[in-house]
Amino acid sequence: MKVFTTKNALKQHLDAVRADGKVVGFVPTMGALHNGHLSLLKQAQQQCDVTVCSIFVNPTQFNDPKDLEKYPRPIEADRAKLEQAGCDILFNPEVNEMYAGNENWHLEIGQLETLLEGKFRPGHYQGVTQVVNKLFNIVEPHKAFFGQKDYQQVMVINRMVQLLNIPVELVMCPIERETDGLAMSSRNIHLTADDRQHALVLSKALYQAKASFEAGMSLADIQTQASENISNEPGTQPEYFELADGETLQPAKPDSQSIVALVAARVGNTRLIDNVIIR
Ligand code: AMP
Repeated sequence: MKVFTTKNALKQHLDAVRADGKVVGFVPTMGALHNGHLSLLKQAQQQCDVTVCSIFVNPTQFNDPKDLEKYPRPIEADRAKLEQAGCDILFNPEVNEMYAGNENWHLEIGQLETLLEGKFRPGHYQGVTQVVNKLFNIVEPHKAFFGQKDYQQVMVINRMVQLLNIPVELVMCPIERETDGLAMSSRNIHLTADDRQHALVLSKALYQAKASFEAGMSLADIQTQASENISNEPGTQPEYFELADGETLQPAKPDSQSIVALVAARVGNTRLIDNVIIR
């Protein structure tokens, strides 16, 4: 695996790769890699000739400085996992390689930016679009792979790609879960043994919502049922449980073409998100 820490060296290398007619697949991450990340890499390997994975804990997308500080950064273990998985290129820049200084610019993407995650993490998607835009400019991938785990993020990046006419194909990959249903996340290492048990309420509520929907329960009743279940779980503070239109992320209507159930909650001191596509 080739490792790059500067954008110029990476760009130069990838110019040659593309000139050779190779299809470049890109998997952006913040590291602390788990099987969710590796499943994205696998998809990229299946669909592309050369795979680039980035590890960059992007400061501008953290609205809570403590969250940024305690974000896990096991870079040596991550390198080994990528090497083992057959990743071709790792891009692992420092913050000053990505940002010139105080960058206040942001892309106006409308309501997608301020509802659900955007409401609870103000400014989060401004940081996400900043960094993904920069990464797309550096890597110029043919295809980029993102997890459904961050469903709203995929919608946001899709909107950015449309608005800026970026020549990249986005691929959304399914959520990898632990055997008991917990969605894999770099933040799960912060869960205590008790939190770990309480956290299961999230995936359970989502799967129950899907089952209830299929059994004909109304959207309002599904929402009430799920919210109650999550609120009643000890150690768990729900932020939202929403049945949203899968395209706009506005509240779903019975005739929405696609519907996704999305949840965010604090379990102990850890904020978790998850979702299930129910139609
Ligand atoms: P992160 O390192 O958390 O920024 O995530 C990097 C990419 O991995 C994002 O596209 C995430 O949506 C994706 N990802 C994170 N967790 C999972 C998971 N459990 N299953 C599939 N993809 C995931």
